[in-house]
Amino acid sequence: MDLTLTDEQLSFQKLAREFLDREVVPHRMEWDRAESVDPAIVPKLAELGFFGLTIPEEYGGVAGDYITYCLGMEELGRADSSVRGIVSVSMGLVGKPILGFGTEEQKQDWLRRIATGTATGCFALTEPDIGSDASNLTTKAVRQGDEYVIDGQKIFITNGTWADVCVVFARTGGPGPKGISAFLVPTDTPGFERREIKGKLGLRGQATCEIFLTGVRVPASAMLGQEGQGFKIAMYSLDRGRVSMAAGCVGIICGCLDAVVAYSKERHQFGRPLASFQMIQDMIAEMSVDADAARLLAWRAADLLQRGEPFGVEASKAKYFASEAAVRASNLAIQAFGGYGYIDEYPVAKFMRDARVTTLYEGTSQIQKLLIGRAETGVSAFV
Ligand SMILES: Cc1cc2nc3c(=O)[nH]c(=O)nc-3n(C[C@H](O)[C@H](O)[C@H](O)COP(=O)(O)OP(=O)(O)OC[C@H]3O[C@@H](n4cnc5c(N)ncnc54)[C@H](O)[C@@H]3O)c2cc1C
Repeated sequence: MDLTLTDEQLSFQKLAREFLDREVVPHRMEWDRAESVDPAIVPKLAELGFFGLTIPEEYGGVAGDYITYCLGMEELGRADSSVRGIVSVSMGLVGKPILGFGTEEQKQDWLRRIATGTATGCFALTEPDIGSDASNLTTKAVRQGDEYVIDGQKIFITNGTWADVCVVFARTGGPGPKGISAFLVPTDTPGFERREIKGKLGLRGQATCEIFLTGVRVPASAMLGQEGQGFKIAMYSLDRGRVSMAAGCVGIICGCLDAVVAYSKERHQFGRPLASFQMIQDMIAEMSVDADAARLLAWRAADLLQRGEPFGVEASKAKYFASEAAVRASNLAIQAFGGYGYIDEYPVAKFMRDARVTTLYEGTSQIQKLLIGRAETGVSAFV
């Protein structure tokens, strides 16, 4: 893996940072308090190409490789994880599976709109009683003539109230993973209802919601991939999502590091800057090493993905390490800030609240360890 960034990658990174410092960072606390990101940010992000990264130009994307994708996610994570989630769910968890499994018509329709930011998507796998054990989901899709009728309930769906299209995973066959299919459901379909979940610990600007599906009718052509391929599609999306999330977590760690370095030079105690205390430098060193290690793990997975090699276990390792490291870094950052870290005058408390969910969603840390353990031993702990 060549770690030298190309001029194109460096120029995208610079543009992204300048844009986010101007359009997102000054507003992130206000969006966090209001529990809503301003939707006007979506077309602006689209203009810079965030929604089209790694999507071919023939479908409205800006192409770009997976390292550029990681650079984009890292910058978004550093600026505001709520905004990162909007991009990584719409483009990563909805756009990518359409690119991988969709018909030409689905690609020209939904993928093009997602890649250009003229539509946003959400990904509905989790149900009130089914989280980590997704292969046992209970939402049903029953074929009636040329249509499917979907009934069920989903929970914790990112972008849910904003999305124009939802990838709904529903059972079309028998029990287990092979009985699940995926559908592209326009969110204005009768029977598709959403209720926003307020009062989250972090990612407060992001629209997370419950979805109620009652007799939702879609044409058979709304199926994504083949009947029974739904679980495979979900895992395909989540493997890619874990690379994105790992890169986003690198952004959180770097955001914490930057904030602590700056604060430790300006804040004095005992007549000296905090930066001169060995125990503060210890915290800074921990964050700095974690940032590098997490980035290298994310880039390794991205590089394998780019080259068409198997990358799932490497994505799990990157997601596991980077998310746990983001929680550690944000906790240390609050410690280094002292009491000022506990209020929202500085960004570190928000970094901690936003980091906390990253060890939970897109596969908890425990699930990542089971995937890594299965790869190491050849024995599955899931059955
Ligand atoms: C803010 C937010 C946004 C989200 N966005 C989305 C989204 O867009 N789309 C979507 O579909 N879902 C989304 N989710 C759901 C998320 O993916 C789930 O919360 C996650 O998969 C865990 O499921 P659960 O919450 O039901 O926990 P459970 O599966 O009930 O797990 C509870 C605990 O048990 C542990 N556990 C479970 N099984 C095992 C096992 N076999 N071995 C050891 N430990 C185990 C878990 O690690 C965890 O610690 C989101 C969640 C949040 C909080």
